[in-house]
Amino acid sequence: MVTKQLQQVDVAIVGGGMAGASLALMLARYCPQLSVALLEQRALPDAGASVQLPSFDTRATAISAGSLQIFSELGLWAQLRDYCAPIQRIQVSDRGHALGVSLHAERHERASFQGMLGAVIENAALGPVLHEALAQTPVQLMAPAQVSEVQMGADGARLRWHAGDDGEQAELKTPLLVVADGVNSPLCRQLGVEIETIQYRQRALVTTVGLQRDHGGVAYERFTDAGPMALLPLPRRDGQHRMALVWTCAEEEARALTELSDDAFVERLQRAFGWRAGRIQRAGSLQGYPLSLSLAREQWRRNLVLVGNCAHFLHPVAGQGFNLTLRDCYALAQALTGADLAQDSSDQLDLLQEYGRDRQLDQQLTIGFSDRIPPLFASSNLMVQGLRQAGMLGLTLAPPLRASFVGQAAGFGL
Ligand SMILES: Cc1cc2nc3c(=O)[nH]c(=O)nc-3n(C[C@H](O)[C@H](O)[C@H](O)COP(=O)(O)OP(=O)(O)OC[C@H]3O[C@@H](n4cnc5c(N)ncnc54)[C@H](O)[C@@H]3O)c2cc1C
Repeated sequence: MVTKQLQQVDVAIVGGGMAGASLALMLARYCPQLSVALLEQRALPDAGASVQLPSFDTRATAISAGSLQIFSELGLWAQLRDYCAPIQRIQVSDRGHALGVSLHAERHERASFQGMLGAVIENAALGPVLHEALAQTPVQLMAPAQVSEVQMGADGARLRWHAGDDGEQAELKTPLLVVADGVNSPLCRQLGVEIETIQYRQRALVTTVGLQRDHGGVAYERFTDAGPMALLPLPRRDGQHRMALVWTCAEEEARALTELSDDAFVERLQRAFGWRAGRIQRAGSLQGYPLSLSLAREQWRRNLVLVGNCAHFLHPVAGQGFNLTLRDCYALAQALTGADLAQDSSDQLDLLQEYGRDRQLDQQLTIGFSDRIPPLFASSNLMVQGLRQAGMLGLTLAPPLRASFVGQAAGFGL
């Protein structure tokens, strides 16, 4: 357990998941003048052990080339590389229709990182890399430290936190509070930040599958009658070829799928996905995630910024949520480079305003991209089917269109 009690820091980040941990690393790297505390309600393990936080569960994350570039700048690529499966090709297809789009790393050099369009990493591997890197920085890791109350005043935020249920309470003051406490954020509610939510009434079923043949670095995005599916390359383990499955389907369908036996599930998956990746031999246990589009109406205010799932929670079909968050965090750290938060609050307001302006377009495009794809591909309406086939054809035939699609998917386009 790491617990340190502080009275005052320049930046307090609440939530040590993918968003909070990434931002803390960036502030340590780009804003060494700022004292930073990261408060996480769950205990953090000793070095080398897995990190038991919601972010670092059994999912795998597709990290765009743009995000890999950011991790590389943070000096983390050497640690991440061993756990990553490179994405050399992205194949988007619509089951039952001949057209598909194939995006190759070698044809999109400007949207690639070291010859890859991106990489896939298991979240359980990402957690220790981020938290071990954090332990090497001056960031004050406070865990377990659950923030139970926030009061905003003229000179910043006052946080009340406690270490576990019967842990002693303490207070922390900061001129800049960053909330990174995940989707359905209780702190946002407490602060009166309105969150707009659209329930998709869908569930993402996630598991790791074993395949007969090597995936060859191909990430498949397949739109089927049973919902969109992503099969993402993973590094081999014990000689087994593996891919990460994200299968999005309606709630009832998801429930039915989780009730199947292992063999029946594999058979159903093979039928729905087809044979592009070869024979699927086995699947691990299924984890389900309810899906919604959830957007905070304000992402910053005087003395306050929201990052990660509490700011925007997206449909995972396009693998954009964390990549967008990483770009937000990077922009925030760049905006705070050289800032003296303790001194001048009007300066801080200008910086946050600039940060907000800077992130608007990327957020709008990325959120729109993630929100519009699922209904487009779920529709059995012939006109919509025709349109999406025309879209695929456009992507196949028009290099500038394809380049901008790849730019968006790879996190470089904006
Ligand atoms: C099925 C699925 C697949 C996905 N795949 C991809 C992908 O391939 N690519 C991609 O870019 N994105 C993907 N995403 C999105 C990605 O998972 C999110 O962007 C990421 O989880 C953001 O995490 P977070 O840190 O904002 O929130 P969380 O992971 O929820 O972390 C919040 C943290 O705050 C802590 N906390 C909460 N309240 C308090 C409190 N009061 N005090 C202290 N600590 C507190 C929690 O314990 C937790 O550790 C996917 C999402 C899903 C659901």
